[in-house]
Amino acid sequence: MLKVADLHVYYGNVHALKGISMEVRQGEVVTLIGANGAGKSSLLKAISGLVRPKEGSITYEGEDLTRLAPDKIVSRGIAHVPEGRRIFTNLSVMENLMVGAYQRKDKRQLKHDYEEVFTLFPILQARAEQMAGTLSGGEQQMLALSRAILSKPKLIILDEPSLGLAPVMVDTVFDVIEKIRKNGITILLVEQNAHLALEASERAYVMETGEIKISGSSRTLLQDNKVVEAYLG
Ligand code: ATP
Repeated sequence: MLKVADLHVYYGNVHALKGISMEVRQGEVVTLIGANGAGKSSLLKAISGLVRPKEGSITYEGEDLTRLAPDKIVSRGIAHVPEGRRIFTNLSVMENLMVGAYQRKDKRQLKHDYEEVFTLFPILQARAEQMAGTLSGGEQQMLALSRAILSKPKLIILDEPSLGLAPVMVDTVFDVIEKIRKNGITILLVEQNAHLALEASERAYVMETGEIKISGSSRTLLQDNKVVEAYLG
């Protein structure tokens, strides 16, 4: 479904991605793990068109995305939930959700999806009229995730979805990931909580200083001594 080949990203003199090759297959959950600064967010941003690679290619369903603008990439069915949320702080919760859904034509299914989102995150319904900027950090995270779900993507890219959430909400986010997957949406996930992420995914890549050092089935990585030592404590 998604194929990244020999990707290089620079920020000025900083060589953030040094020849990344990886893929995500239809229906999979794929996890990226790695220390701070390893390049995980940079890879996600390159896929959604937010940073321009200097070399290499990104293909999605046979189409070259490498030079496509971010809005075109969204319209191909790729939704990116960035680290730090990026909701519209001066719009209400409901208005933020409507932004996610604005391209949807299937009104009946959309109504059902709103109900599902409100069942997953009842707090968003209770706060529907509230300015999104006044939500707590965790609530904003739920809003960003819900907005992405409502855009009905084929591939959803999640950058640290559990960051800053209370433990009970971390479990909810992973339940949501499982539900999204069951709905047939493919997921590419970056998570600090490597243990939960590996348990929720089929395959994983371990990144270190801009390179992929280890890749394999998540089950195998959960038992890999090097991975356990470095990332699973
Ligand atoms: P974290 O887990 O801390 O979010 P990460 O693995 O997502 O880290 P990136 O955010 O992709 O890492 O950063 C990779 C490297 O690129 C880091 O050394 C970072 O300092 C650098 N970098 C990222 N964005 C920029 C930027 N806009 N300008 C300059 N350097 C950047």
